[in-house]
Amino acid sequence: MTNLPHPFRKKWGQNFLRDPNTVSKIIDCLNPDKEDTILEIGPGDGVLTDRLFTLVKEIHAVEIDPLLVKQLQEKQYLNVTVYREDILDWVMNRLPGNIKIIGNLPYYISSPILFKLLESNNWERMVLMFQKEVAQRIVSRLGNKSYGRLSVMCQVFCNVKIEFTVSKNVFHPKPEVDSAVTTFRPKEGSHPEITSFSKFVKQSFSQRRKKLKNNFPGAFKSGIIEKWANMRPEEISPDEFIQIYKLIYLG
Ligand code: SAM
Repeated sequence: MTNLPHPFRKKWGQNFLRDPNTVSKIIDCLNPDKEDTILEIGPGDGVLTDRLFTLVKEIHAVEIDPLLVKQLQEKQYLNVTVYREDILDWVMNRLPGNIKIIGNLPYYISSPILFKLLESNNWERMVLMFQKEVAQRIVSRLGNKSYGRLSVMCQVFCNVKIEFTVSKNVFHPKPEVDSAVTTFRPKEGSHPEITSFSKFVKQSFSQRRKKLKNNFPGAFKSGIIEKWANMRPEEISPDEFIQIYKLIYLG
């Protein structure tokens, strides 16, 4: 493991991966192909980029830290475009078609980034590293303690899987928690409209202890959600959330 002459910015969640074996495993999960267009989130000093650029058609790497952007641009990769931008401001349909997305995410904004990516439909596979506890919430099934809004949103729209966990010891500087690499594939078939469905799920979980009838009193009074009226949001499966959403919003 080497130390970089880079002033680490904690506020930007900078923990750099320093284990070549983990880098290989992450890249394998992406299943890279010579035709692929990649969006890389938070490339940092390029530990993934360095390995990936020879395997794909092009990489678009979005990094917030101007010092790291400069460092990456100096590498003069032929097929990597580096953008100095906040990923939360990035316009997703700037890249057309079925892109693949990769990133060891900055943990302070991993959920907003994930919601943004879910709202976009131009990707075919995502390989994202989260802190382990967040990854567990993403894949958590009904009945588990960590099942919640994130689980519902991810599982309604995607097939999700934790591929492997990553020890905090393979980063520099070392973070406080372990991580997990998670893959996402869009689910086939028709889905509810994501923006309004997302609002509905958020409202359902706004008070976890409240029964559904208290979160949606109007729908309860009209009798359309009777079957679930006395259930709490953490007792309702992703498929049932879709059914309830359709009943309340689509009639
Ligand atoms: N990919 C590198 C690696 O694996 O070692 C760095 C990962 S580090 C956990 C997260 C990276 O995201 C940092 O380079 C950080 O500067 C960048 N970052 C933080 N906030 C960002 C944002 N809002 N938009 C784009 N990049 C961001």
